[in-house]
Amino acid sequence: MKKNAVHKSRRAFIKTTGMATAGIMLTPGISHAMHLGNDNILQPALLGGAPVRTKSWPTWPQWNSETDEKLVVDDLRSGIWSRAALVDQFEAEWAKATGTKRCLSVVNGTNALIASLLQMNIGGGDEVIIPVYTFIATAAAVLATGAIPVFVDTDINTFQIDVAKIEQKITARTKAIIPVHILGMPADMENIMKIAKKYNLKVIEDACQAHYAEINHKRVGSFGDAGCFSFQNSKNLAIGEGGAITSNDDSFMDHCYSYHNYGNPYGALVGNVNAGTIMAGNKLRWTEYQAAIGLVQMKRLEAQTEKRNVNAAYLRSKIKDIPGITPYTLYDNVTRATFHLFSFRYNKAAFKDLPRSQFIKAMNAEGVPCMEGYAPLNKMPYLANAFQSKNYKRMYSAKELDIKSYQLRNECPVNDKLCNEEMVWIFHALLLAEKEDMNDISNAIEKVHSNAEALKKAMK
Ligand SMILES: *Cc1c(COP(=O)(O)O)cnc(C)c1O
Repeated sequence: MKKNAVHKSRRAFIKTTGMATAGIMLTPGISHAMHLGNDNILQPALLGGAPVRTKSWPTWPQWNSETDEKLVVDDLRSGIWSRAALVDQFEAEWAKATGTKRCLSVVNGTNALIASLLQMNIGGGDEVIIPVYTFIATAAAVLATGAIPVFVDTDINTFQIDVAKIEQKITARTKAIIPVHILGMPADMENIMKIAKKYNLKVIEDACQAHYAEINHKRVGSFGDAGCFSFQNSKNLAIGEGGAITSNDDSFMDHCYSYHNYGNPYGALVGNVNAGTIMAGNKLRWTEYQAAIGLVQMKRLEAQTEKRNVNAAYLRSKIKDIPGITPYTLYDNVTRATFHLFSFRYNKAAFKDLPRSQFIKAMNAEGVPCMEGYAPLNKMPYLANAFQSKNYKRMYSAKELDIKSYQLRNECPVNDKLCNEEMVWIFHALLLAEKEDMNDISNAIEKVHSNAEALKKAMK
């Protein structure tokens, strides 16, 4: 009982200290002084002190049994489990929300990308430009078609594809660009579309982390020839698994539909009905109960997105002046990001050379979960594995498949440093807490900063 009371008062003290620290953020010297001394509260949690936060963070996905289960259970009881009215309804609502004419649901985001590439006639012998700072699925999708991914380095401020470095990567074989709105922040679509037009390239937006993100109040997934979304459990609209393709191009979408349904005739592709299956297809269809979960989750997406935006902006403002912390930058025309991950760069030089891995351990110990994020995608064994495959050997010359020269052509030094030393992520569910909870995050960073020396010493 007594222990508990002491603990409580300490937490209350930390809260007060936290607020005071926030108030003197502009004079960091004073805030550091406040953390000096040997009291347990001021000790880093990693070294046995009391953590900044013991309260739990919002969990993901969000689900309310009372209000959310009816549509799902009704469907389960109906026995209509294969694609029917609920899938149609989800597609209509997702197209409307994205601001596109059509939407097709598919099994996941990876296959949304693969289907889009294939139905744009991209495959063996082609090159597809992708950012190096992305999830493995973007590159895997290109390889699944038989095309070769060409990596473009990262813009160090926005963490998006560096548009200034795209043109030098375009060759006679380049067929498409896949801009990724990575971390839920929009890529520079205005300039990417200009380049695509100049070189007659297709554009497939990988919007798998960017549901409802906007450029000039227009939603991502509506700028390119196609947009691809993921509804995997961690994503901002979570269904467990699921994906979608959005587009204004009827012919392309009819092809995608046919492909996702064994290659059977659909829309303008019906033609001679008696001819049977018209293309080499696949099976990527949704179930009805997936759509039911999606429709329910869509109801909270707008409010969640808004909350993340407000909290991200507040948290950004609170940490931007901490020495060694450089938060994300949005392009000027971004009217809304979705912050699948809240991101900042960590410069260990301002933290007494405390390595990022130790900074993250210390933050986690303070009750603020954060992560290092992606490793460089242009340096992993999957590329050599694809190049050594039977199909690639039939499609390309030995010279084209020389992995050493491929990797030299695809070096991305800015991204290497970002991935290996600097990037720190905070998962989007934390941004669904209240505004005052964001103070715990900034206070934890401040506390680690103030104690960097001790944390470094403790490593030896
Ligand atoms: C999640 C993700 C994908 C793949 O989506 P899945 O539904 O997991 O297949 C593709 N690209 C990016 C950027 C992603 O984050």
